[in-house]
Amino acid sequence: MENSIKKMLRLTDKYLTIQDVSYETFHQTNTLVIDAVLAPPTSACLTCGSAVRDSKGKTVIVKNGKKMTCIRFDQFNHLPLIMRLKKQRYHCRNCHTHWTAQSYFVRPNHSIAEHVKMKIIALLTEKVSLSFIAKHCQVSIPTVTRILKSLKTYLPKQAKRHLPKVLMVDEFRSHVSSEDKMSFICADGETGQLVDILPTRKLSRLTTYFQTCVNPSDVNYLVTDMNAAYFQLTKKVFPHAKLVIDRFHVVKHMNQAFQDFRVREMKRLIASGNRTMPRKLKSHWRLLTKIGRISTTQNIKLGVAFVPQSILT
Ligand SMILES: [Zn+2]
Repeated sequence: MENSIKKMLRLTDKYLTIQDVSYETFHQTNTLVIDAVLAPPTSACLTCGSAVRDSKGKTVIVKNGKKMTCIRFDQFNHLPLIMRLKKQRYHCRNCHTHWTAQSYFVRPNHSIAEHVKMKIIALLTEKVSLSFIAKHCQVSIPTVTRILKSLKTYLPKQAKRHLPKVLMVDEFRSHVSSEDKMSFICADGETGQLVDILPTRKLSRLTTYFQTCVNPSDVNYLVTDMNAAYFQLTKKVFPHAKLVIDRFHVVKHMNQAFQDFRVREMKRLIASGNRTMPRKLKSHWRLLTKIGRISTTQNIKLGVAFVPQSILT
């Protein structure tokens, strides 16, 4: 019976003994709990190398109680599954060190079984979100992120990047990174080709990244929004680059300023008892925005916002 449970859980450690299987409420969820003991026979000391018995037949390595651990496994029949595992402790009488029995299915000081990690790695190859994987495997999102980062060591080292003469940079909300809500994107301003996407927009990380590129001094123009942090990049990393504020962001700020002005004007007219004009300002907002954009572009040097009276009357 015990071997059947071990086969079902795909556990092959011969020193693992299943003692009981029960249903318990764990973190307010009905959970399948397996009580087990891991007790391999005593072996030579890992620190001083002493044998279990010395030359006189005196016992050197002795059993020293059990350490209780709680290991999370993959769910079984839609029920969360945990193993309450008692690990045998050992003591060396020669060097007075203690150690705990370990098995292949869980790493020392870890509480998530290797089976769950393998499942997370398999799911990471699919087009699903980190939060979905975390929910599906009943672990936290930082756990999934940590496992993803641990795979970095298996990736081949990337060659150093060549930067284009015109470098466009911006940020976007991506949720891929646990360290920053916004990711960073940079592209070639002449061809529109993507250069790279970074998981964070923090200036220190960006500076390190661009300094490791082959030719930061060859960048002639840095096209950016009005984020002051990126202005620092030109000083620190791109000494020959001129800073250009992207037209998209200029128009976006102009639109916002115009809408603020329109709403302010509506409130002023309502306060003065005028009912017709605010209604026209509201219903013609799209047309006013178009005209406002053209006139603001024409008058931008004078700093004048212009609304034609013909629309309002
Ligand atoms: Zn020892």
